[in-house]
Amino acid sequence: MTVPIPVADPATEYREQKAEIDEAVASVLASGRYVLGPEVRAFESEFGAWLGVPHAVGVASGTDAVRLALSALRVGEGDEVVTTSHTAVATVAAIEECGATPRFADISPATFTLDPASARKAVSRRTKALLPVHLYGHPADMAEICDLSARFGIPIVEDAAQAHGAEFDGRKVGSFGTIAAFSFYPTKNLGALGDGGAVVTADATLAERVRELREYGWRERYVSAVPGINSRLDELQAAILRVKLRHLDEGLRRRRALASLYDRLLAGAVGTPPVSLRALHAYHLYVVRTPDRDALRAFLSQRGIGSHVHYPVPVHLQPAYAGRIPLTSSLAQTEKACREVLSLPLFPQLSPESVERVCAAVQGFVSRTPSR
Ligand SMILES: *Cc1c(COP(=O)(O)O)cnc(C)c1O
Repeated sequence: MTVPIPVADPATEYREQKAEIDEAVASVLASGRYVLGPEVRAFESEFGAWLGVPHAVGVASGTDAVRLALSALRVGEGDEVVTTSHTAVATVAAIEECGATPRFADISPATFTLDPASARKAVSRRTKALLPVHLYGHPADMAEICDLSARFGIPIVEDAAQAHGAEFDGRKVGSFGTIAAFSFYPTKNLGALGDGGAVVTADATLAERVRELREYGWRERYVSAVPGINSRLDELQAAILRVKLRHLDEGLRRRRALASLYDRLLAGAVGTPPVSLRALHAYHLYVVRTPDRDALRAFLSQRGIGSHVHYPVPVHLQPAYAGRIPLTSSLAQTEKACREVLSLPLFPQLSPESVERVCAAVQGFVSRTPSR
């Protein structure tokens, strides 16, 4: 029996850090403080310091983080937000939740991130935010996007939900935008054991606004200064995230080592993920491209190897969005990527031997498929 290789496995990370996590959890359980307490405050300051961003505000999820970042910028009804359609639906759901309309630009095919030239064409008088997504852990082209932002005076909201630890020009993503959003969904590079997210910014006023919005718009307890929502981070998740944050650099180091092993063993067989010269990839996902994607996925599955398609249907073609969101430009690269991408197993606890087994299977598939 060959041992199955999952595409991600957050339980192995828990087992590796069990002693520290169990202790942190026990201490919260005994404390009597369960929501927005000292653990959340400590995590916010530690995560901000790790990123090099002055303010971090813990919220209930990554989706809420994007939504509250936009609301803090007062983006709402009648406004447009330029983003990509090759992303988690969450990005677009968050734009609509705050009342704004998404405006899709195409992606650069090499990095799967917002194509600055296409974004430029998507900008209108109603554009109130540029929302690049650092997809799979590869940073968007922040030099060009910051240029665009300066030229048109439009703020940037970074969706860094997949990119804890990604860098552009030696600076961590999350520190480029006016404001940025992170997710701590369990499989993300920094994952809680439940839901969680954070909004980060260098702007103290924006940070304060997010703090109000995440708890009923309270400026002072029981007095809502603005209409807010409930999007609080709880103490258990914050305590767990504090433990995980201490191991994050090591986790990123292992992700990068495994990705480089994949690069080496898959060269020539499938399209391996290129990394821009100015970028440091955070490898949330290791995504290859091949026109035979569905057949490769089935072939791997027969051999006990997990894989996923992130994402099989671009947001603008999903039933909930198709035909409803006006398209102003070609999304040809987005649609092509959706037909070809395949995410192979990758997580810090994955063994190099497992990567070798995955690569041998991919090579086996390629050698038996007639070349096209
Ligand atoms: C995961 C993710 C989100 C949403 O995060 P949740 O914590 O699941 O709400 C948003 N954007 C991207 C790109 C993501 O990958």
